Order: sequence, then structure tokens, then C-alpha cells
Amino acid sequence: GMPAGAAPVLAERRKTRQLQVGPVGVGSESPISVQTMTTTVTADINSTLQQIAELTAAGCDIVRVACPSADDAEALPAIAKKSQIPVIADIHFQPKYVFAAIEAGCAAVRVNPGNIKKFDDKVKEIAHAAKDHGTPIRIGVNAGSLDPRLMEKHGKATPEALAESALWEAGLFAEHDFHDIKISVKHNDPVVMVRAYEILAEQCDYPLHLGVTEAGPAFQGTIKSATAFGALLRQGIGDTIRVSLSAPPVEEIKVGTQILQSLNLRPRKLEIVSCPSCGRAQVDVYKLADEVTAGLEGMEVPLRVAVMGCVVNGPGEAREADLGVASGNGKGQIFVKGEVIKTVPEAQIVETLIEEAMRIAEEMGEG
Ligand code: SF4
Repeated sequence: GMPAGAAPVLAERRKTRQLQVGPVGVGSESPISVQTMTTTVTADINSTLQQIAELTAAGCDIVRVACPSADDAEALPAIAKKSQIPVIADIHFQPKYVFAAIEAGCAAVRVNPGNIKKFDDKVKEIAHAAKDHGTPIRIGVNAGSLDPRLMEKHGKATPEALAESALWEAGLFAEHDFHDIKISVKHNDPVVMVRAYEILAEQCDYPLHLGVTEAGPAFQGTIKSATAFGALLRQGIGDTIRVSLSAPPVEEIKVGTQILQSLNLRPRKLEIVSCPSCGRAQVDVYKLADEVTAGLEGMEVPLRVAVMGCVVNGPGEAREADLGVASGNGKGQIFVKGEVIKTVPEAQIVETLIEEAMRIAEEMGEG
């Protein structure tokens, strides 16, 4: 059930076990979190903390850092201690860094069973160390590094193979009475990825970390991630998300946040309702929408701002929004809460909207 007055959502969350990544809950009891990974050399503590601070400011809930070398492992205690958000160490190949990360006080550790030789033999030790420190483990299966046994069995990284790999490893942890696990099964094909998560969702109750891996540059990666996450979130599947883009991690956080906001899975903040423009437009809508978006970036209150090119749908949409403009004849009618408060020349539309938005935001903040 949904609390009265809450924005409607498309599905109830799938019921999962609940775990804590530092102060951030991951599971069906908690809001869906957004995470990303730093791109700095982890051993460069200052640069890494600087990037984590930028990600925190952008709304990142959980951050992951790579740990490919001993120098990186040595940097983990300082980073885990000074970061404002929980830090997950991302470990491939070297089990000894799993133990280092747990000892370092990382909020969780990600392991890729396909990339750690004889992983099965190490599970007991990892489970004990993680349990002693209360550290959750993410089992992160990737199509590109699937367990050779499953590659042989399935021929390629099918949805079944990805899910089987993750469930096999989770089963080994469970044998040692360790259940503080979340799972990801990433593939670069959204269709394969969605199917793999659907299989997992049917077969276990671990929280799931969603990701389309190697999704590509910003435009393609945004669409692949949004469509795949949408298909899963529509079924209530997904407890934490990571958008992978060949673009700076702050962009990943913005996209992830926007996906959740679009589905009412986190409160909407600034929303620009702008028209696509057409032959009726009497103003440069693209430019106007971009300028208003740029001028209001970082707005922390929920605000719908309508930017409309003409008077056909303009006044209607502008009235529905908190604030809006309907343009025509080189002028803009400025609406606030459904009332035309003034008409300004085209050149003053942007500054007027920004001024009014600031005023409304201040009122909301005070109220
Ligand atoms: Fe065209 Fe006017 Fe609609 Fe914009 S608001 S798409 S300009 S009809």
C-alpha cells in the first residue's frame, strides 16, 4: 500500500532481505539507492575523496572504488573513514584485497566470482571475515567475465548462465550461514540483462543491484539503462541502481536519479515541462528550455516549470505547472499557480522565470 497523497508508482517492491551498506539500507524496506564508481586512481586519496565529495553533492548514495593494487588497498581505510557516503571496495582477481577491504572498514565489498580463481575455496574465509565485521558482500557477475564452468555449460552468457553463476556463489555463502548478500548480473544487452534479473527475482530474495554494463556513451547508455531499469522497476525488481556511462560519474548519478524520479520512486525536484516545438512556435523553444534548465539547475524543491512555444497548449500546461510561460507575438505570459502574473518581452522570459522560481522556492522552503 501507498501512503495517502504519495505519488502513484507502477509496482510494489519485490520483498527482499534487507541489508545495511553503512547507513544506507538496501532492500525492499528502503528507498532505491543510486550509486556509481570513482574514476580516480584509488591510491590517490585526495583526488578520490574530492570526486566522492562531488558525487555526494550530486546526490550519490553509495560509491564504489576499484582496488587493483596493494597501494589502492592501503588507501581504503582513509577513504572509508573520510567519505561522507558509504564506500564499497570493488575487487577482482585478488582475494587478499577482499580481506583488506573488510579490515579497512569499507561499507561493503563487491566480488566477481568469475574473476577470482578458486573462488569457491575462498568463500568460507570471506564469509567469516565479513560476518565478523558486519560487512555485506555484493556478488557481481558480469557477462564479460562469466565463470568458465558456466560458459562451457551454456555456450555463452545467457540470462540463465548469469543467474546460475550468481545463485551458485550465493549458495556457497549460505552454506556458511552468510546471507548479507546483494546480487548483480550485468550484460550490455538490456534484453539479456532484464531476463537475468527476472530469473534471479524468482529464485531468491536477495536485494538486487541493477546495471547494464558497458552501456556505452552518454546518449546510448542513458537509453539502455532507462529502458532496462524501467522494465524491471515496473515489476518491483531492483533495490539499488548503477547507470554505467562512458562519461563522468556525476552524469551517471544524474541519470540514475532522473530514472527514479520519472517513476516516482524518489521525490521529483525540478521538472521542466517543455513542448517539442512545432510550426506554430513563436519563440525558440529549445533555447528557452535549455536556458531555464541551466538557470534552475540544482533546485532542491519540487517545482514544475512549463516552457511552451505558443498559445495552443501553452496556457493549459503553464496553468497546471507551478510556474510557466506561454509565448506568443514576441511576448511571454508568465503564469504562477495558474494565474497570469505578468506579460514580458521575449528577451526577459528567462530571467523572469528564474526570478519567480527563486521566489517560489524560498516560499516553499519557509513553508
Ligand atoms: Fe507547437 Fe505550441 Fe504545442 Fe509547442 S505548445 S508544440 S509550439 S503547438
